Amino acid sequence: QANARESLYLVNAYANEYFQKTLHKTDPGKAIGYSYFKERGFNEDTIKKFNLGYSLDEWQAFTDDALGNGYQLEFLEKTGLTIVKEDKRFDRFKGRVMFPIHSMSGRILGFGGRILSNDKKAAKYLNSPESQVYHKSKILYGIYFAKQSIAKEDNCYLVEGYTDVIQFYQKGIKNVVASSGTALTPEQIRLVNRLTNNITVLFDGDAAGIRASIRGIDLILEQGMNVKVCTFPEGDDPDSFAKNNTLEELTLYLDTNAKDFIQYKASLLVKEANNDPIKKAETIREIVNSIAKIPDHIKKEIYIQECSKIMDISEDVLFSTLAQIDKKTF
Ligand code: ATP
Ligand code: MN
Ligand code: MN
Ligand code: MN
Repeated sequence: QANARESLYLVNAYANEYFQKTLHKTDPGKAIGYSYFKERGFNEDTIKKFNLGYSLDEWQAFTDDALGNGYQLEFLEKTGLTIVKEDKRFDRFKGRVMFPIHSMSGRILGFGGRILSNDKKAAKYLNSPESQVYHKSKILYGIYFAKQSIAKEDNCYLVEGYTDVIQFYQKGIKNVVASSGTALTPEQIRLVNRLTNNITVLFDGDAAGIRASIRGIDLILEQGMNVKVCTFPEGDDPDSFAKNNTLEELTLYLDTNAKDFIQYKASLLVKEANNDPIKKAETIREIVNSIAKIPDHIKKEIYIQECSKIMDISEDVLFSTLAQIDKKTF
């Protein structure tokens, strides 16, 4: 078992070198892959730091190279780098730019690959499959590069995608990690909780992003952590916003727009329907549902007081609602 895992790590490490070499040293790598990253605003240092790469648009360029260098097909298949169908072998990431996914200690667990054409038939991002070393629910993209500044800043920005992490990092905000398209899990939050008690959720300014942020909030509260939410203007995500603004503008935006989760949920209501009592009741119930997840009783009480003020409703009603919820869950 231990040996098999080690073999998967070795194959991933080799692939990581190979995709970077392809990006920096081959003609298609330079013309297609490298210029794609440049177009996105990533500089040389950033491209190297995150080990970004390119996988040639050929059926089995990587697989043939790795086999030729003594790596066994069994492990190429187990990492998902090679897809084996009957007697044929295919490179999973054919023609994609590559984002290696590092563990907390910097080993390569798997890859994300982004398509370059705007071909709607293929998935925009493709990830390594689950393997003995890659468990997508247990890792956060960027944690290896972010861990020191998460501890130092005592806060962690949580974004959706690879490019959000990289663009923030390049701008100078290094305490940032991504859930990479999977719904946030308790294991991922515990990774952050080893470094700080504070998470600021920065999801995309679209419906999917808002839905994901609401789900994320409760999970973070359940772990006893403090959570803030900052949304971006519609059509923006952290990547595009960071790319189009200076560090000072970005920092100012984050500081002025990061809301406590109650304010955030309340503000969603205001957007939906200002004075609809039914909507308002739903929102209050939503907020109390979130407060119920907080393990700490003192914090719970403080949040009830805050909710009472913001939503203009008595604390008594909120406490009895909370008691009803607690009775249902225990
Ligand atoms: P880009 O800016 O490169 O177009 P993004 O990072 O803004 O992409 P989103 O569409 O906002 O992409 O999705 C957020 C994250 O979800 C992505 O970074 C990726 O990790 C994941 N993701 C997106 N689309 C897919 C997909 N089709 N399959 C698997 N994962 C995906
Ligand atoms: Mn999105
Ligand atoms: Mn996005
Ligand atoms: Mn984007």
